[in-house]
Amino acid sequence: MRKMGIFGGTFDPIHQGHLVIAEQVAETLGLASVIFVPGGVPPHKPASSIKASPEDRLSMVEAAIGGNDKFCVDRVEIDVGRPMYSVKTVPLIKERHEGDEWFFIAGADEVSNLLSWKEPDRLLEEAAMVAAARPGYDVADLDHLAEALENFDKVIPVECTLVDISATGIRRILAEGKSIRYLVPDGVREIIYDGGLYGARRGKQSSAGSEGSLSRSKEA
Ligand code: ATP
Repeated sequence: MRKMGIFGGTFDPIHQGHLVIAEQVAETLGLASVIFVPGGVPPHKPASSIKASPEDRLSMVEAAIGGNDKFCVDRVEIDVGRPMYSVKTVPLIKERHEGDEWFFIAGADEVSNLLSWKEPDRLLEEAAMVAAARPGYDVADLDHLAEALENFDKVIPVECTLVDISATGIRRILAEGKSIRYLVPDGVREIIYDGGLYGARRGKQSSAGSEGSLSRSKEA
């Protein structure tokens, strides 16, 4: 029985919070592999909310997962080049990879909004939904889904080490000219500085690190 994880996101940029939940969910559920699926512009976000190009976001994912044999990346959403709903993406991923049991990994913040996703019950028929712990969201607090979803038994809360990092926070820190060292893998940081992504400039980089919170609750 080969259990497979699908981890979709904008990864704008990928950061340690993503990697920690992918690793810990894989370990907890005994997944053979986690397939990272960087998205085009997700249907629920305005196009302007995505800052780096699809190819740059893909390169950052590749750099971040290098060295972990269990992790791989699939560029199907980027190649399609238009918004895709998870209920469409998951069957495509299942055609392209071998697996017997499928798990869609998302943060508890996203899973808590599952009723606003397209055809959530059908998505749950395609893959179980893993709600990974995220600071500020209680993975046990999914009662509103229990009442509304026929396949609620396929929503699986997984406790993970809480990592209070968001892509929004990283972009803000870069805009402030502060250090993102250790918030993203070194290879990702290199791509950000080499490409001047998110307004990053080497000269602006502080060695002192950031004193600000990274959580989205303090978004500008
Ligand atoms: P943004 O701040 O731009 O919204 P993000 O940090 O939430 O980005 P996404 O690429 O949108 O990153 O996230 C992909 C998935 O990873 C989502 O399901 C999200 O809930 C989850 N996720 C992101 N960061 C964390 C974290 N620190 N802990 C747990 N889950 C996370």
